Amino acid sequence: MRKAIPYGRQNITAEDLAAVVATLQSDYLTQGPKIAEFENAFAQYIGSKYAVAVANGTAALHLCTLALEVKPGQKVITTPITFAASANCVRYCGGEVVFADIDPETYLLDYNAVAALLEAAPMGTYQGIIPVDFAGRAVDLEKFKALAQQYDLWIIEDSCHSPGGYFTDSTGTVQNCGNGNFADLAIFSFHPVKHIASGEGGMVTTNDEKLYQKLLQLRTHGIVKSEDLYTNTIAFAGGENNYPAWYMEMQDLGFNYRLTDFQAALGLSQLKRADEGIVRRRAIAQRYADAFKGKSFLKGQSGVVEGHAYHLYVLETDDRLGLYNYLRTQNIFAQIHYIPCHLMPYYRQFGWAAGDMPNAERYYKHCISLPMYPTLTDEEQQFVIDEVVNYFNS
Ligand SMILES: *Cc1c(COP(=O)(O)O)cnc(C)c1O
Repeated sequence: MRKAIPYGRQNITAEDLAAVVATLQSDYLTQGPKIAEFENAFAQYIGSKYAVAVANGTAALHLCTLALEVKPGQKVITTPITFAASANCVRYCGGEVVFADIDPETYLLDYNAVAALLEAAPMGTYQGIIPVDFAGRAVDLEKFKALAQQYDLWIIEDSCHSPGGYFTDSTGTVQNCGNGNFADLAIFSFHPVKHIASGEGGMVTTNDEKLYQKLLQLRTHGIVKSEDLYTNTIAFAGGENNYPAWYMEMQDLGFNYRLTDFQAALGLSQLKRADEGIVRRRAIAQRYADAFKGKSFLKGQSGVVEGHAYHLYVLETDDRLGLYNYLRTQNIFAQIHYIPCHLMPYYRQFGWAAGDMPNAERYYKHCISLPMYPTLTDEEQQFVIDEVVNYFNS
């Protein structure tokens, strides 16, 4: 039997290992110099002003809803075709998740569905929108930003699938996913199936200095360490004319969402190969698209889209279960992304039911994600293509 082919996997090189070992042998295990280095390099790669490294993508989302001060009962709109954390971060703050359907062509949160929700409700009903660059395809955030301005909403872009992805705005300018030009905050994950792996790990990017400061504080228990921010007196702190060097204040209820320095070293080392990885992902997508073009057993596929970062390559077919099971017998582990979030038992308790999101539910019936990662060889990809075709021809 040939080696198993998963839908996604990390690639750890000798250079990555050396970077991690060097950091493990340094003075810092938790936050040290590699954190700032990784943050600066990542911000530069994405094109944002600021980046804040955190423990994982879910922590990144939670810090965003905390920094934006989501309160119990406040309503936030997101897509049902995403990993649950995109919605859960609203619940962590007691907010209410309102799902809006996807566009069946792009699989992304449907602008028109969001606009319809906003138009139908009194001004102030909704607080924010969390669009997701699902599969690596960039959301047209320029359009969403205009809506957000009209209705006084914030935007958190969930860019976990799309580092290196982009869309072109109405002026013809390329806008990288997560660059902060249209969203208040954007988040990334460094889980091993994502483009850049650090084990667990995440990042928040923003161009807003106030939010940036807030994120730094909330990442470490809500503690500040800066004289001009202190509210207790110097006398209380135990100093004479200045605050003593040990002094700090916990001013907000934060968390420990720090990334370790050796994970940052791994992320930084991986980031150096990010461009190479995207080129390879796009080549794999092109090959799938060519191989499956016009095939009658498909209802749709990701295809080749400008700016797509190809975290996933999705096929849509009526016989999804049969294909999935057959591929497993050939040691090809395709995956399903995603079971619609609104139909998870946790969200059903809030009244969400089958039929609420017809496009998302139809998509879920047919979708299957094929192997997509930079180290997938041409020979392995050909095997995947041949087995998909074999299944439908037999
Ligand atoms: C992976 C992922 C997350 C969560 O990231 P973790 O690092 O696993 O916590 C959130 N949203 C999307 C769309 C993801 O793919």
